[in-house]
Amino acid sequence: MQKNIRNFSIIAHIDHGKSTLADRIIQECGAVTERELGTQMMDTMDIEQERGITIKAQSVRLTYVKDGQPYILNLIDTPGHVDFSYEVSKSLASSEGALLVVDASQGVEAQTIANVYIALENDLEIIPVINKIDLPAADPDRVVEEIEQTIGLDCSGAIYASAKTGEGIRELLDAIVDRVPAPQGDEEAPTKAIIYDSWFDNYLGALALVRVFDGSIKKGQEVLIMGTGKKHQVLGLTYPHPLKPTKTNEIKTGEVGIVVLGLKNVSDVAVGDTITDAKHPTKEPVGGFKEVRPFVFAGLYPIDTDKFEELRDALDKLKLNDASISYEPESSVALGFGFRVGFLGMLHMEVVKERLEREFGLDLIATAPTVVYKVELTDGTEVEVQNPSEMPDTSKIEKIYEPYVRATIITPKEFLGNIITMMADRRGVQEKMEYLNEDRVMLVYAVPMNEIVVDFYDKLKSATKGYASFDYEPIDYREGDLVKLDVRVAGDVVDALSIIVPREKAQSRGRELVKTMKELIPRQLFEVAVQASVGNKVIARETVKSMGKNVTAKCYGGDITRKRKLLEKQKEGKKRMKAIGKVQLPQDAFLAVLKID
Ligand code: GDP
Ligand code: MG
Repeated sequence: MQKNIRNFSIIAHIDHGKSTLADRIIQECGAVTERELGTQMMDTMDIEQERGITIKAQSVRLTYVKDGQPYILNLIDTPGHVDFSYEVSKSLASSEGALLVVDASQGVEAQTIANVYIALENDLEIIPVINKIDLPAADPDRVVEEIEQTIGLDCSGAIYASAKTGEGIRELLDAIVDRVPAPQGDEEAPTKAIIYDSWFDNYLGALALVRVFDGSIKKGQEVLIMGTGKKHQVLGLTYPHPLKPTKTNEIKTGEVGIVVLGLKNVSDVAVGDTITDAKHPTKEPVGGFKEVRPFVFAGLYPIDTDKFEELRDALDKLKLNDASISYEPESSVALGFGFRVGFLGMLHMEVVKERLEREFGLDLIATAPTVVYKVELTDGTEVEVQNPSEMPDTSKIEKIYEPYVRATIITPKEFLGNIITMMADRRGVQEKMEYLNEDRVMLVYAVPMNEIVVDFYDKLKSATKGYASFDYEPIDYREGDLVKLDVRVAGDVVDALSIIVPREKAQSRGRELVKTMKELIPRQLFEVAVQASVGNKVIARETVKSMGKNVTAKCYGGDITRKRKLLEKQKEGKKRMKAIGKVQLPQDAFLAVLKID
């Protein structure tokens, strides 16, 4: 019965205790024992556990008894990172309530705010949870003030809790039952369910995690996926649980469940799509279905050129699980055959590269990440440029437009100066500056995505001793005065190293780039010129001196094992080199761009 169902999500800034709280709630509802709890259950992917982030949404169906009445609590997990904000919004759209978890010793951070806005857009009942009250540094009253101040959220009903000790958890569960509205779908209407997560299971194929809004999904039913227009039979249905999923014959109105359709490809059950009955379809899909678009692109090349097909296989397999990756083959004079891969953001890119290397044993070179430019040509046409080396010749360009993001930064006020300098240097336009309390400040900037796509987070952390938090969302395209900066090694342009930079920074970036390159290129048997150029104009130059002698020369005779070791090391080094003309470039050199300011 719908009146006994509560669907809710947990939103939090990273490390504020979302996973710990989820585990504690699961335990409190008796769904697992203390022993089973052992490791955090809600984060299942290896990389997620290591990095402590949630990439794919998980869910769990629980039973909680209050005043003798049993309630079904569906805890709908949300991905914890801004790169996945499309998935976040679909998860939140599947709930009626959200627990806003804020660390009592840290206070409101950038991702707290971003997630609350999505929750408010979805009209969710928000229950503030001030977590980690067991910490000596906890100051829950102050955090409550911060939330009211920044977000304008009424915190009179905030729950003070510790996911670690269990304090406040019962009170929280009671609040969920009392305050989160029950779902209110039409049980008699045609089936209408949103897919808010999907993934690939080796045995069952592509699985869809859905929230049913109207009607129900039954085993054996023929359903229609509205986005793809394809019809499929429901082979199985399961209530989600990280350890003990249970089978069912029907997922009813207001409920959450996993649908097995026997499909090979997750793109057939894309996040945001609507499932309905094939014979009696609902009139309109849930919400507006839109395809997720990648914002960041990079070239991925196998170090060993023979591994191109292996890389293709690996990408095909990853795609089964992560419909948001896109890729197409590209070739580079410098790097040979590889793929141009599109990602949702910077973290997504790191995760994909890491999975390719870890799960598929590939050694990869990734070129510097780049955004998508819109280029208006002199003949009136417009092209999209995802690879700097494909930027049209300047004589053909009328205007270049680049994507902007809205960046939210929260920092202790002592670092304010550093951040303002840093953002000005990155062409940021300040939109807002607001004190959260006497010593913490929130800054909002519109900034070219190009300026934050490389290394921004690390720089921000070091400018603020790790105290600042940061979040961003894409906003629009704006005209930019941009040029393509090329790097030439021994006279040849290395296509994989080209970058797009603001015209006024071309000179200084070029100088830094060749200096960094000079350090990364080992001495060769001959002198090598490293140049930076814009168009045909060379703007900076360095020389890598010739080495002349054999590396083993410095082992003056004697120690044979040392000599062998050195040769082996040299061989190992060679493997990780790429020959550009007759010059050997190490893997690192292709990331030189990431090392400059
Ligand atoms: P998430 O990134 O929001 O999922 O955060 P986690 O649940 O992974 O928690 C981050 C860190 O805070 C972990 O080391 C937890 O053990 C710790 N933590 C979570 N809740 C509490 C709490 O109530 N008290 C204390 N002292 N530590 C907590
Ligand atoms: Mg977590």
